[in-house]
This record gives sequence, structure tokens and C-alpha cells, in this order.
Amino acid sequence: MEPSCIFCQIANGVVEADILYKDDLAFVIKDLSPRAPIHLLIIPMQHLESLENGTQAETFVFGHLVQVCEKMATNYNTSKDGYRIAINQGKNAGQTISHLHLHLLGGGMLGPEG
Ligand code: AMP
Ligand code: ZN
Repeated sequence: MEPSCIFCQIANGVVEADILYKDDLAFVIKDLSPRAPIHLLIIPMQHLESLENGTQAETFVFGHLVQVCEKMATNYNTSKDGYRIAINQGKNAGQTISHLHLHLLGGGMLGPEG
């Protein structure tokens, strides 16, 4: 837990959020500024900054995050027509929160940046 990290605060109930899905390893919220009709954030409970350490435990968590994405895409009915999973890694990609998270974008046609 990084006390100053908004996703850690949500994971630990310090800040309230509408949590759409939660298990031991991950939780899902809607993005505050959606860039697609469906824009969810799939977030590990643990404060991982990125995948750069590449430990086995982190790789396991990452695989789980992708599985949760697929589950949410199905629940939100965007699995068949398609969706995008995105990670902004570092400043050149515009990462604003340094707690690893996957963006799930779907629910309609997506532009190259959508
Ligand atoms: P990134 O640019 O990949 O670091 O993505 C951070 C995302 O988190 C942005 O798309 C923000 O709109 C979103 N965001 C920031 N704060 C919150 C929050 N409290 N609840 C939900 N989404 C948030
Ligand atoms: Zn965090």
C-alpha cells in the first residue's frame, strides 16, 4: 500500500469508489473520464508500478488482469464486437497513475487512440 496512491486508497477502502468487480488480486472501476462507451480500469490490489521487475508472481497477476478484462468484456456485452486492452507505460505514453492498470475500451467503434 502506497498511502499517496489513489488506486491503493480505493483498494483499501480509504477512498470510496463504485467497484464493479473485485477478487483477491484485482478490482475494476469505471474510468472517471471515459474515452469510449465502455471504459473500465482493471487494477491489481497490490501496488505494482509496472511490469519491469518481471517476477513470476507479477506475471501471474498480469495474466489474471487480462482474464478479468475478458470477463468484464463479456459481462458488458462487448466481447463479440471487439474491444481494446491498453496500458500506458511511462511518461511518453501519458501514464498519470503509477499503479499498474489495464484500460478496457469497448462498446463501439474505437479510433486508433480511442
Ligand atoms: P493512465 O493515463 O494510464 O495512468 O490512466 C489513468 C486513468 O485513471 C485516466 O484515464 C483517468 O481518467 C483515470 N482516473 C484517475 N483518477 C480516477 C478515479 N479516482 N477513478 C476512476 N478513474 C480515475
Ligand atoms: Zn498503488
